Amino acid sequence: MKEKTILLGAHTSISGGLYKAIEEGDSIGATAIQIFTKSSRSWFVKELTEAEIIKFKETHKKSKIKVIIAHSSYLINLGSPKKDIEKKSILSLKQELDRCEELDIPYLVIHPGAYLDSDEQTCIKQISKNLDIILKNRTVKTKILLETTAGQGTNIGHKFEQLKTIYNNCEEKDKLGFCLDTCHIFSAGYDISTELGYEKTIKDFSKILGLKNLYAIHLNDSKTELNSRKDRHENIGQGKIPKKTFSLIMNDKRLEKIPKILETPVEKTQDYEKEIVFLKSLVK
Ligand SMILES: [Zn+2]
Ligand SMILES: [Zn+2]
Repeated sequence: MKEKTILLGAHTSISGGLYKAIEEGDSIGATAIQIFTKSSRSWFVKELTEAEIIKFKETHKKSKIKVIIAHSSYLINLGSPKKDIEKKSILSLKQELDRCEELDIPYLVIHPGAYLDSDEQTCIKQISKNLDIILKNRTVKTKILLETTAGQGTNIGHKFEQLKTIYNNCEEKDKLGFCLDTCHIFSAGYDISTELGYEKTIKDFSKILGLKNLYAIHLNDSKTELNSRKDRHENIGQGKIPKKTFSLIMNDKRLEKIPKILETPVEKTQDYEKEIVFLKSLVK
């Protein structure tokens, strides 16, 4: 019974071609990876060619990677008070969804949005409205996953309740889900540093957002303290979140089937290998 497949891996690089991210994942012993389907710093790119799509799918089939998750561009802000940015965000996210569909990627993680000089409630409403615009009349298999954020600046998503409101206001709920980031929730004030705090956080998440709607976990340690509201990832065991918390996560039956992705600071993909080995070693 011990050798169950643990869905564990890291965000891997697409430089040199999308399929390269899968090969990199294989080389570090990953069973799940996260990728950008295009440069994370660009709004739009030219469409994927048939050859690129085939190469990606064939590489995937030959690999040990069970789940591939996409992360959207950092430029996208569905809650932006600037009309031109809002419009570009909608079009850009539509294009990213198209790419996920073409590549058979089931999940696209997004940061919900930031309100800048507007206000929280307006922003939250706008995000839901725009998600419906993007998802309506689409028979997409790819779900958009709203990520929990650290709440840096005016970023929405640092309280589970905010994500719940966005979700509730959407009509296209069956095309939505959530992604939980350990660094983000810790810096947002969810104290997962103790067993009691961890349990309470998972219970809160379960009660407010539903564990059945949780499709991805980002495993990151945090450079900054609890409630610092800063988004600074650290390598596992070297930040403010104790190793014990990662052991709780790796052994939590409720989270067993959810892909876990490292987004810790590394110089090259190979550096993830030791963190993967360490996290696997925590599984009892
Ligand atoms: Zn993350
Ligand atoms: Zn982050």
